[in-house]
Amino acid sequence: RSKDAGGGLFHAYEPQLHVEAEERRVLEIALRGAIENDQLHLLYQPVVQAGTGALMGFEALLRWTHPEFGPISPAKFVPLAEDARLIAAIGEWVLRRACMEAAGWDDPIRIAVNVSPEQLHNANFAAFVARALKESGLHPSRLELEVTESVFMREGTAAIQTLEAILDMGVRLSLDDFGTGYSSLGYLSRTRFSSIKIDRSFVQGASKGQKEAIAIIRAVVALADSLGMATTAEGVETEDEHRLIQALGCTKVQGYYFGRPLPVTEARALATRDSDSGIAQVA
Ligand code: C2E
Ligand code: MG
Ligand code: MG
Ligand code: MG
Repeated sequence: RSKDAGGGLFHAYEPQLHVEAEERRVLEIALRGAIENDQLHLLYQPVVQAGTGALMGFEALLRWTHPEFGPISPAKFVPLAEDARLIAAIGEWVLRRACMEAAGWDDPIRIAVNVSPEQLHNANFAAFVARALKESGLHPSRLELEVTESVFMREGTAAIQTLEAILDMGVRLSLDDFGTGYSSLGYLSRTRFSSIKIDRSFVQGASKGQKEAIAIIRAVVALADSLGMATTAEGVETEDEHRLIQALGCTKVQGYYFGRPLPVTEARALATRDSDSGIAQVA
């Protein structure tokens, strides 16, 4: 862009905008080669039962390490992949890999996989899920897909039909980052979610004593209970937060207090302990 395009006020903003656009372009090109160049891997974060700390499953979290740029956060590259229409290929890689790795874990340890709205608008997605299950041998009831409220904001019913087809296979569905989007309660009762994940911002707010955050968690727990759904509190970092979340009635917990996202070998060790001696204890 030419130097004299703006002037005055705009001029000061231009270099920054330019750097961001350029960075996105460079990252997008790099991301196109990430799968074939073996730069992606998954980490697995424990999800435990509130109170007991018993291991219920893991959430698969995607990591991208570029040889030059180093590790890049999914918060940065997932939106980029969505814009660049790369999320379908990346999402398929994630799902296939997660199912393969989790197939060897003890029953009933579950694996949760994040799914972008874009993926659900692809007519082939349900068939792909079926194939990933079949090829890995993972029982459908041990797979949980995490979707966000934004899935329901788009026009049309294609994504809903895809979700219905997946639910009919016996796969579970959870609603991720609840409370951060434009919530509408209608779809909550219409869609068969197994679990609502309460965003970390509410957990943090509640632990600071914010009355509003506490009220929201209570309300979500009551709503989930009455709809027969579980609640998972995200981002529990301390013993106090765990106690509070448990007192508020959340059924499951996830967060650094119980475990950071782990490499697959460590997740496997936790997920394949002698099942006769009871359920593995994470913390
Ligand atoms: P998310 O699905 O809500 O995942 C939870 C995020 O919270 C993860 O960040 C996790 O590492 C972080 N987290 C967990 N416990 C704690 C805690 O106690 N404290 C703090 N401060 N953070 C905690 P991560 O791994 O950076 O992922 C960020 C987001 O990127 C995810 O949010 C998800 O929306 C997206 N993402 C990750 N993997 C995938 C994927 O395979 N596909 C898609 N479509 N999105 C993904
Ligand atoms: Mg998630
Ligand atoms: Mg989440
Ligand atoms: Mg979140």
